[in-house]
Amino acid sequence: MTQQIVLATRNAHKLEELDRILKDHGVAFELLTVDHFPGAPEVEETEDTFEGNALLKARALAQFTGIPAIADDSGLCVDALNGAPGILSARWSGAIDNVDATNRELVLSQMVDVPDDKRGAQFVCAAAYVTPEGQEIVVRGAIEGRLLRDSIGTNGFGYDPIFVPVGFDITTAQMTPAQKDAISHRSRALTQLVAQILG
Ligand code: IMP
Repeated sequence: MTQQIVLATRNAHKLEELDRILKDHGVAFELLTVDHFPGAPEVEETEDTFEGNALLKARALAQFTGIPAIADDSGLCVDALNGAPGILSARWSGAIDNVDATNRELVLSQMVDVPDDKRGAQFVCAAAYVTPEGQEIVVRGAIEGRLLRDSIGTNGFGYDPIFVPVGFDITTAQMTPAQKDAISHRSRALTQLVAQILG
């Protein structure tokens, strides 16, 4: 029987990205999501690191479902903002509607006086794998880049329209999903995670 793994996400963009990456690695796991488990706990991200929050989510889901769980926690860390929004990336502006655009606009307004050569930023992703028996693996992937002054591109989500990776002159929102997967923080974290799970 194919080994099942449950992913701690309801975010369709993330699910697709995780699914593609795992398939690219030829991993023959049956992927489930929290939506397959009504009543799965909503875990509050109370830790102050990406790794801590990824572990919290994976532990809760492995315990609830009785099958191995993968969770990630990710965000944008901006040099000129001392690493913010960081673990608060998803809720940086406090907006309820149009959240991604409002978050981007807030970061851009906070960066308005920051010159072009000081607009460095990283996308960071911690990925955790936890089994019901208590095995725990947590890894981190990152991608370096810089922030624009306006949004460009419609692919991806979150801060993609303002982030240009090092070595590129387009935003991650102008990349195809395959192009972004090839370099993304999540793919780097998951690549390491899968290697360690299989190793
Ligand atoms: P999480 O769901 O707690 O991991 O929060 C992730 C948040 O970080 C998202 O809501 C986005 O705002 C931002 N983020 C993480 N990864 C990406 C990415 O690949 N592109 C754009 N924004 C991202």
